[in-house]
Amino acid sequence: MAVNRLERFEKGYTMYELNDILILKKPHPCGGVKWQVVRLGADVKLRCCTCRKYVNLMRDDLQKRVKNTETEKGERKNGEK
Ligand SMILES: [Zn+2]
Repeated sequence: MAVNRLERFEKGYTMYELNDILILKKPHPCGGVKWQVVRLGADVKLRCCTCRKYVNLMRDDLQKRVKNTETEKGERKNGEK
């Protein structure tokens, strides 16, 4: 439903999916570097895998901070078009 709006945002951006694990360049104050994507929209809500706190990041901002991504369903991702 919100797809059109999302697609606009995703032009030129890495596509993240819900529940993807993102590894950020800068660790959280708790020491955690792994974040789980819990909501995708104009901004992205992440949960720290270490202390379970939530943060909201703008997509551009996120783009700059992500070092790596891990996905729990890596095989499925490859299989998708
Ligand atoms: Zn944390």
